[in-house]
Amino acid sequence: MARAPAGLSRSRAGVGVGAPASAAQGASDDYEARRRAAFDWRRWYGTARWRAVRAEQLAQEPLCRMCAADGEVRAATVCDHVEPHRGDEAKFWNGPFQSLCAFHHNRDKQSAERAAGR
Ligand SMILES: [Zn+2]
Repeated sequence: MARAPAGLSRSRAGVGVGAPASAAQGASDDYEARRRAAFDWRRWYGTARWRAVRAEQLAQEPLCRMCAADGEVRAATVCDHVEPHRGDEAKFWNGPFQSLCAFHHNRDKQSAERAAGR
């Protein structure tokens, strides 16, 4: 079952990799399924379930973790995945999460994309 895509896993964070193996029904379907899965997780952010997860995270940790590391106190508005979930359902829903302000969330994302691009 586990088809390890050697060499593929590191280079393209986020899009196209990590599709659920359960959808493998042949080569072309597999491609379609992976394409869909890459966009599926974006929709998860719009669900009531995600809003509940986010609300709980922000309730437990209302302040931006990175601001706190700099000795700043700023309210967090983003429930961020500590590890990139890459469309992995278990990681997406179960975390671990961290609370970030918008500034740190955006900065974090950009540096993660830079790191993935090399
Ligand atoms: Zn911050």
